[in-house]
This record gives sequence, structure tokens and C-alpha cells, in this order.
Amino acid sequence: MKIALIAHDQKKPEMIQFTIAYKDILKDHELFATGTTGKRIKEESELPIHRFQSGPLGGDQQIGAMIANNEMDIVIFFRDPLTAQPHEPDVSALMRLCDVHFIPLATNLAAAEIIIHGLEQNNLEWRNVRAKAKDIKK
Ligand code: PGA
Repeated sequence: MKIALIAHDQKKPEMIQFTIAYKDILKDHELFATGTTGKRIKEESELPIHRFQSGPLGGDQQIGAMIANNEMDIVIFFRDPLTAQPHEPDVSALMRLCDVHFIPLATNLAAAEIIIHGLEQNNLEWRNVRAKAKDIKK
């Protein structure tokens, strides 16, 4: 599965802890992240991860493009609900695209843990069917 990991600054420590705690599950999947989140995850968990631009410079939109192309299966996005973000429109657009394309989206640790356990139990296999359906259409 292709998994996007994004965390606003105040939430980055939580994201690092999450990726270290679930490293054994995450290592079997293809990981993507916005620039700074990806750098921190790579340094601290040593998981291989594809890094896009930093969020405020377009990273959220790059992940959004993958969603629009049916190339992303899960989005884990630890937003900071207490701090204004300069790229709030990009944040909203990313979450909107998850809803448009039925992409499981966790915006906090509690929801992320449910998704990761679902992933571990193969409850997200329907995503592979959707991804294949797209290939056939092409
Ligand atoms: P960052 O971007 O990982 O580059 O900090 C995250 C965001 O704010 O969207």
C-alpha cells in the first residue's frame, strides 16, 4: 500500500513516535511524506520514505495529485488544530480529495492507530481492487 505521512510542526514528535512504534508494519509499505516530516521520519525511524516538497511549498498538493490519480491508499495527517497554517487552503484541499476518492484519512493519533491495525489485519485490501480497476480503465 502507498501511505502518505504528514505532520504539522507541533505534531511532528507524535508522528515520529507513531512511525517508530509501528515500524514493523510500515516497513512493508511504500511511504511518502511532505518534506520536513519525511526528513524527520527518515532520520529517527530509519524507514525508507519518498519526500515531496515541504507542505507550505506544495507538498500537500503533490500528495493530493497522487490521490487524484488513484495512486495513494492511505493518508495519515496529524494536523495541528490550534495553530493557523499559511497553507490552510492546501490542507483543506488534501482532505477534500480524500473524501472525493474514498481514501482512508486519519487526522489524529487515535484514528491512525485504528487504520494501522486495519492494515495489519488486511482490512484495506479493497484498495488494491480499486487501484487495479484504475489500471484496467487506462
Ligand atoms: P512539512 O509539511 O512536513 O514540510 O513540515 C507539513 C505541512 O505543514 O503540511
